[in-house]
Amino acid sequence: MDLVKNKQSGSTGTIDKSDTICIVGAGPAGLTMARSLLAKGIPFQVFEKHNDVGGIWDINNPGSPMYESAHFISSKYLSSYFDFPMPENYPDYPSNLQILKYHRDFAKTYNLYPLIQFNTSIKEIKEQDGCWIVETSSNEKYLFGGIVCASGITWSPNQPKLEGERNFTGKILHSVNYKSPTLFHGKRVLIVGAGNSGCDIACDAGANAEQAFISVRRGYHFIPKHILGQPADVFGDGAHWIPNWVSQFVFGRLLKYLVGDLTKLGLPAPDHKIFETHPIINDQLIHNLRHGDVIAKPDIEKLEGDSVVFKDGSKEKIDIIILATGYNWSIPYMDSKYFEWKNGRPDLYLTLFNRNFENLYALGYMETDGGAYKMFDEMANLIASYIEAKRKNHPTYLRFANLIKTDRPLLNGKIQYLNTGRHSVYVNQVAYKNYRSKIQKKMGWLELKPGQFNFLKSPIVSSGTENRLPTSGISQ
Ligand SMILES: Cc1cc2nc3c(=O)[nH]c(=O)nc-3n(C[C@H](O)[C@H](O)[C@H](O)COP(=O)(O)OP(=O)(O)OC[C@H]3O[C@@H](n4cnc5c(N)ncnc54)[C@H](O)[C@@H]3O)c2cc1C
Repeated sequence: MDLVKNKQSGSTGTIDKSDTICIVGAGPAGLTMARSLLAKGIPFQVFEKHNDVGGIWDINNPGSPMYESAHFISSKYLSSYFDFPMPENYPDYPSNLQILKYHRDFAKTYNLYPLIQFNTSIKEIKEQDGCWIVETSSNEKYLFGGIVCASGITWSPNQPKLEGERNFTGKILHSVNYKSPTLFHGKRVLIVGAGNSGCDIACDAGANAEQAFISVRRGYHFIPKHILGQPADVFGDGAHWIPNWVSQFVFGRLLKYLVGDLTKLGLPAPDHKIFETHPIINDQLIHNLRHGDVIAKPDIEKLEGDSVVFKDGSKEKIDIIILATGYNWSIPYMDSKYFEWKNGRPDLYLTLFNRNFENLYALGYMETDGGAYKMFDEMANLIASYIEAKRKNHPTYLRFANLIKTDRPLLNGKIQYLNTGRHSVYVNQVAYKNYRSKIQKKMGWLELKPGQFNFLKSPIVSSGTENRLPTSGISQ
């Protein structure tokens, strides 16, 4: 199926693809968007700055936040793409290499590779009469009919300034630059921040450094990766019909028994109920804290020569500080006027549809309380259904366009997420699914059905190993 229209140079040197959708990025979001458009026969072209698919899961993709020890945080059972389960021989929580292979198998299986232009970064996108002028790093210019930004949210590190850092004699790195625990051998290491990556890196330091510390500002609930022998999300999913306030109560109680009192390990008591922040799914850090391999510290007051002074007045000599302080979200190839940024997050209908600009969509600009890929699939299907309705001038197109401008549903499932930038586009998976399904049903747009993508499939040749994959240009 040739879905990429032949190039036609206009008098301005701009290649006219005004009947084609441009997808920026061939990470998980870009791949699932491509599969949905392909299935509906909507022409599209994907641009990917790196030389292969997989997004952040490719540790060799420059600027990826991946590190050697990273494993999936959600379990394989609830984290696969729709109708494309992870292999049976994968563990409950696959490694980053296995996840990378899984994405590449996905792209091969659905024949997406020929539709992706690799080694091509999008430099700038500007609106022109309802279409979009797209300029690439190789100075090609295109006119596309629509844009799906799927370029990810972890490419711009948030690196806070620390008092006294100019005279600090140790090293300060953002976690994006952390790759391998060999860095820690024989060193005294401080990790700042207890998000999922921060906790993982603290555990690497606990096992490899002379001494590791983790500095946290607030208390968190730590959810073990397994509860009663089941992956935590599988265990929780069994109770998804229970109202959130009940599961907050039950889970809160259960964690007290399973994990115990974290303040005994030097961590602050959580100042919020469970699920009111993005869950920290990690039991290894608790193990390390209990064995003294990692020591909990409060917020940093200042750096002083070769040491770090903490807010409780304690002082430690530190050789390496890793700032696991997250990322600033950005869509750097589009002027800020194209998206309404609130608390550092783009304000989009259902986190997907631009309220002010036609034919401008985004996929992957949200965070949620579980595995993202099936959700990405459902979102991609919604975007594709809207584009299809628009192309066919179906009456649902105008009805949905009106919703994009006027509908502002709360998608938090009545959970009071903490009032932080991170949680401003945080969606509760069950609440989101229910609302999206309701709207989709009203439009008469079909939900995903098992087998619906099968006609795109071709047999894949599996390498049969989970070894690091070659990253040379692949455009098969
Ligand atoms: C350590 C870690 C563990 C995680 N664990 C889980 C988990 O267990 N479950 C889960 O669901 N999620 C997890 N996540 C979240 C993760 O972000 C998603 O799984 C997923 O990678 C997001 O996909 P994406 O396509 O939106 O973005 P990305 O993976 O960032 O992909 C974006 C792609 O766009 C490309 N790109 C960027 N800018 C441009 C440009 N200007 N031009 C062309 N191409 C561009 C990039 O090269 C990249 O390939 C984890 C994240 C981290 C860091």
